[in-house]
Order: sequence, then C-alpha cells, then structure tokens
Amino acid sequence: MSTYDRNNIFARILRGELPCKKVYEDEFALAFHDIHPLAPVHVLVIPKGEYVSNADFAASAPPDLLTGFWRAVAKVARDLGLESSGYRLVANHGAQSGQSVFHFHVHIFGGKMMPHDMT
Ligand code: C5P
Repeated sequence: MSTYDRNNIFARILRGELPCKKVYEDEFALAFHDIHPLAPVHVLVIPKGEYVSNADFAASAPPDLLTGFWRAVAKVARDLGLESSGYRLVANHGAQSGQSVFHFHVHIFGGKMMPHDMT
C-alpha cells in the first residue's frame, strides 16, 4: 500500500485550504468540477479519508464509507442529469495510468459520446 501524503492537493481541498467548484458534499464524499475538464461534464468525487488509490480505499475504508462514497458517485451523476444520457467513471491507479493526484478519486465524464479506443 502506498504512503498517503497529507499535503496532496485534494487533501488540502478537503480541509478547505484550497478552493473548488463544489457540486455535492456529504459525510462521506466531496464532488467538484475538474479545473481542466476533458468532457462537457467532468466532475471529480473524492472520499473523506486518507486513501491513495482504489486498491487502498477498498482494502482499508470502513464499510459505511465505501457504501456512502459509491452512493455519492451515483447521486452526483444523477443530479448532473447524466442518468439517461449516460456517463463514464474513471479511477486512475498509479502514474502510468495517468494518476497525478494521490488521493483516491473518481472522474465522472458526461455530455458527449465517449470513445472506446484506449490504444
Ligand atoms: O486521475 P488524475 O490524478 O490525473 O486526476 C486528477 C485531476 O484533478 C485532473 O483531471 C486535474 O485536472 C484535476 N485537478 C483539479 N483541481 C486541482 C488539481 C487537479 O480539478 N486543484
């Protein structure tokens, strides 16, 4: 399991030290617009806890946080109006996948047709 850096940018957003364009917040999760959107809708959902990646989150988070977080992801997508048009969830794990912030987060992409080709 990787070491969690308490000064990563999302930890600082969670502590209110840095601003974000908040979409939703509850006891389990915070959702905000990505500052560099890659789709017409691009929102990030982060759990309230110190988890580097999904592997870390799945292994270490208490069940109520796991459930609450994933329910928040679904609620945010629904509230953004993406339920009928469709959306994509992405969670990068590790630098090679494109992870640049080492606080576990899920990207919600929507508002356009998504390409299938990852090659
Ligand atoms: O999966 P990855 O770690 O690359 O995603 C990090 C995302 O966080 C990027 O899409 C980046 O644009 C976003 N970001 C942000 N606000 C910040 C710093 C990064 O929305 N202050």
